[in-house]
Amino acid sequence: MASIFTKIVAGEIPSYKIAEDENFYAFLDINPNAKGHTLVIPKREENKIFDLSKEEYDGLMSFSYRVAKALEKAIPCERIGMSVIGLEVPHVHVHLIPINTMADMQFVKKDKLTNDEFKTIAEKIAENFK
Ligand code: 5GP
Repeated sequence: MASIFTKIVAGEIPSYKIAEDENFYAFLDINPNAKGHTLVIPKREENKIFDLSKEEYDGLMSFSYRVAKALEKAIPCERIGMSVIGLEVPHVHVHLIPINTMADMQFVKKDKLTNDEFKTIAEKIAENFK
């Protein structure tokens, strides 16, 4: 069965898209640790990050680098934190999180945002994506 994220890539489930290319897709996490919390995924469904080929892994990291640069420009923060977990959704995803404290990386404190806030944040990050 297709993962939630495959359905997002296919447009069957809506997402606040940041950027995409042929192989990768970036969108806002629906339950963010902090404003701008973004997920970067390979469009090809794979469960665990280290099961990706070296080439696909490198591509995912390069794409994440570009998204992180856009996040730094769009969201005021101390730095961009990066994490890979995958216990909830079995489709490889890199968490990129604009952080100010360690708590922002702990997946406990969540930021409740309105639809308009999600849209505005996604647009601002997307504008800075190069
Ligand atoms: P993990 O698998 O790394 O533990 O966490 C999965 C992440 O995906 C969580 O941060 C969760 O909020 C996010 N997530 C789960 N379902 C959806 C969804 O349908 N849309 C979006 N945008 N994010 C989701």
